[in-house]
Formats: sequence, C-alpha cells, structure tokens
Amino acid sequence: MKRFIVLLLPIIVLAGILNAQPLDNDLSYLPVKARGIEKTDSITSDSTSIIKQTIDLDIFFKNKYPAYAVLGYTKQNRPVEVYYFPGNSKKRALIIGGIHGSELSSIEIADSVIDYLLATKKPYYNVVIIPSLFPDNAETAKTIIKEVELNTGRYTDDSAVDPNRQMPALAKAFDPDNPLDYNGRLIEKENQLLLQLIQQFSPSRIINIHAIRDTLKGGVYADPRTDCNSIAMGFETDSNLAITMAKYINDNDGNVWGNNLLGCPTALYYTDPDIASVGGFQRRNLNGSSLPNNRGCGVSLGSWATTAVCDKQYHRNAIRLITMEFPGYKSSSCYLIDDERNNCIKNIRLYALSVINVFLNNLYCEE
Ligand SMILES: [Zn+2]
Repeated sequence: MKRFIVLLLPIIVLAGILNAQPLDNDLSYLPVKARGIEKTDSITSDSTSIIKQTIDLDIFFKNKYPAYAVLGYTKQNRPVEVYYFPGNSKKRALIIGGIHGSELSSIEIADSVIDYLLATKKPYYNVVIIPSLFPDNAETAKTIIKEVELNTGRYTDDSAVDPNRQMPALAKAFDPDNPLDYNGRLIEKENQLLLQLIQQFSPSRIINIHAIRDTLKGGVYADPRTDCNSIAMGFETDSNLAITMAKYINDNDGNVWGNNLLGCPTALYYTDPDIASVGGFQRRNLNGSSLPNNRGCGVSLGSWATTAVCDKQYHRNAIRLITMEFPGYKSSSCYLIDDERNNCIKNIRLYALSVINVFLNNLYCEE
C-alpha cells in the first residue's frame, strides 16, 4: 500500500514538526501528508557503523502531532522507518511489523494501522510503530514472492540467527556497548535499533505482528509476564486482551482459528509452555525453528519483553506483549485470484482494526 508519506531526513522531519499547525481546534491530527514536507529519495548515511541512530528519540516521543523519521539504517543501507502517534493518556504502546521479512502480510497490517491512525481520532495509547523492522529481508521476500512458502527473507542470510531469537538473556538489559544476545551472538543491527527504542520509549505494551503459513493457527496470542526471576505475575489480563482482539476479528467474519473461539478459547501459542499459576515458575520456549548451528534457538522478543529487567544500571517492569499471527505470509497483492486477494484484504483490515479498536484502547491497562 503506497501512502503519500515518504522518508525524510530527520532534520527535515523535526523542522516540519516545529512548523506544523493543527488544521483546526479539534483536528489535532495533522496528516503527515498534509505537512508539506518534501519527498526525498536521497538517503545519505554511513552504513559502516554498527548503529547510526538518526533521530533523537526523546525529542521524537514528545511530539504533539503524528511524526515519522528514520530510526536507523539497515545493513544494506535501507531506512528503518518509525512513526509516532500521540494518544489521550500517558500510556505507551509499541507496534512492530516484519521482524520476519518473509511475513509480508505483517508489514501490510502495520501499514494499515498507520493509515487508520492518520484518518481517525487519537488513540488512548501514545504509540510508536515500526512497520518493517527488517526491510532488507522483506525486499528479498518480495523479489522471490513465489517462494514465500519457502521462508525466503525470514533469515538475513544462511548463517544468520532467526531475527526473533536474538534477544538478551531473560531479565538482562540490552547493552548497546556490548550488543550480544543470550547465546553470546552479535544482535543484528535492526534488532539493536529496536531494543534501544524499547529501553528509551518504555512501552507498557507491545504487539509483535507475525504471519503463519498454517492458516489454522492464525490468531492473536499473549506471552505470560513474570518478575526478574521468572515468577509468574498472572496471565488473565494478557489473555483477555488477546482474546478480545481475536473476538473482534471473528465477530467481523475474520479468521482467528488458532484462538479456538468456538471451543475453549486460548491466547497461548501452540508451541509455548503451559502458563504457570501466579507465584509459580514460568518456563519459556528457548527453541524456535530447527536450524543448523542452533540458529533457531535463543530468547524471543516475547519472552524477553514479558520478563522484568533487574540489571544494576537498568530496571523495568515486565511489558505486556501480544503476538499476532496473521494467517498467510503473502501480502494481498500477491494473490492472483480475486476471491483469495479480497479475503486477504478483509482479514488484514480486521487485524489492523483490532489493533486500533482494542489494543490501543483503554482496555486491561497496565499499572
Ligand atoms: Zn514470524
């Protein structure tokens, strides 16, 4: 989906924000495309450094109006876009699309959320959106679209660790000066940008948008939150939020078969360990896909975020984390049969609207 909003150098973004005026009293939402900011395709950056943080995140988060900028640059020098929409409360949420570049539908959902936010009233949560965290990998997937079923674009290269399995150890902070994951491997640059953003923005809830080939397993799931010692804090509200999102999609004739709403509804992803009772030890799944050299193993974003961090320098509460698994990897434009394409578009809209109307709403709010 093409928007009329484009990539900008940060200084232009900030200049645009400072000059932006609301359209009128209640329309405090100024569509980005109405800002008169010029398009530029000429991104110049130094891609040799490990991290090139191109925006001052603290300033970015204080915007009164929607804003977007470049969070940093990928290994192939593509910009990682980040969008910010202020909300009606002090609560903060983060939305991530495309942590697996092969899951093109997840990027389309995140783009749809941005489009809805540009056209609708303010959400309850202040929200940051990264629609495509690994744009290099998504580009690979797009160019070999017939092989989406083969996972093309999921991993950065043949020796790379699964992008969703390279987080720091449970209860440990991300250290930009020593950016290693739980297994001692270098965290990919795009994930470094994400982890820095999480530690600076401090969202109380995150939604990580994925897609799954087995459409029977599509749905909305939650990870259980724990303290720093993996002691369970209670899953009820996490589960309720995920199930409420799934019901929204189902009630509007969308596909969330993995949530088993007609039987015994569940927010537990099918490969995750059972949910511990409050006060009990919560086991985590540290084994992802079966790949050579344990490249599929490691701490996922879901496990890391939902575990509190108690490092000497850095503390944070457990973050509520919802995992969306959209049924089918392809973006809607990849379906050549009208019925299939329309069904995909319908589901993408419903998944995006469940984010707008449930996830970003005043529901099951964190303390
Ligand atoms: Zn995925």
